[in-house]
Amino acid sequence: MTFQTHGLVCAHHHLYSSLARGMPAGDTATDFLSILKSIWWRLDVALDLDIIYWSAALGAAEAVLSGTTAIIDHHESPTAIEGSLDAIAAGCALVGVRTNLCYGVTDRWSDDQTLITTGEQPRAMTDGARRGLQECDRYLSTGATGMVGVHAAFTCSDETIAAAADLANRHNTGVHIHVAEGGVDAQAANRLKTLASDNWLLAHCVYLNQELPGTIVHNARSNMNNAVGYAYPATRSNLVVLGTDGIGADMQEESRIAYARLRESDVTQTPDVVWQWLQNAQTIFPQVTQDTVVWSYDHMDSPWHAAFTTQNHATDVSISGRNVVADSALVTCDIVEIRSKAAEAAQRLFSRL
Ligand SMILES: [Zn+2]
Repeated sequence: MTFQTHGLVCAHHHLYSSLARGMPAGDTATDFLSILKSIWWRLDVALDLDIIYWSAALGAAEAVLSGTTAIIDHHESPTAIEGSLDAIAAGCALVGVRTNLCYGVTDRWSDDQTLITTGEQPRAMTDGARRGLQECDRYLSTGATGMVGVHAAFTCSDETIAAAADLANRHNTGVHIHVAEGGVDAQAANRLKTLASDNWLLAHCVYLNQELPGTIVHNARSNMNNAVGYAYPATRSNLVVLGTDGIGADMQEESRIAYARLRESDVTQTPDVVWQWLQNAQTIFPQVTQDTVVWSYDHMDSPWHAAFTTQNHATDVSISGRNVVADSALVTCDIVEIRSKAAEAAQRLFSRL
């Protein structure tokens, strides 16, 4: 019985979505693709570096207050590409959370800034994708921890995907990519199979129809929210870890939701399965074993207790020996200021939508 654990990892986040809460509604979305068009692709083009910074700071603060000491982020801001990873890194550094960042390239915007008709595979690398790869290259060249991001195969040309894989190899890292999240991307595995390797991070994999090397990030709540179906991660041979897909970074809560969804699919499953997914994150982000989280509940080494204890929260968090949260409060920076600046940034963002 223990009330202390290592730091938790959110293995697939979108820190820019921290300010999406309460955004003005767009057209009513009827499927996964229209959710992307009416929410996320409307939001990401309206981001600027200041909004990205405060969004990251808010998301980072909420992460550490939940005992999450490392965030693997996937970022897109098509009209604010250059310097975007530095803005996220700075927002996270204010709080003190560990990061692994990437810019997610896409060819969905043509060079004249029109959205390429979906269903049609982009034929060649666009200027936006080229600049996104340059941003990854620039950021990784500073020695910072990161990956090369790709939005998803269905919005990218083969040329862009191959260039991303090549850039990742040159930096001795992997590609962080959405894979078969919706039926619209069901051909992803076919297009990625000659390029993917064990150090790739494959988010979602709901419609994955053949094996791909890499770690699968399961995002249970996001998948339910987007009505894309169940990913059946327990049936995969890959290492499985948990992400939130931008809906906060409370990994204890996310793991309880993942357990409920697993159990709904198969009543013979146990909390040990989801517990293992949470622990697997230490394989891809081993530095979190240098971090400690003290919880308000003393059965944190028991999957059966953790799966059913909803009021459990982090009281003290230390990252590489530095106190970040004490007595359930952020001590590295002022949470009131972050919330206030983030609210101002959100208003500016919403006025552009
Ligand atoms: Zn995502």
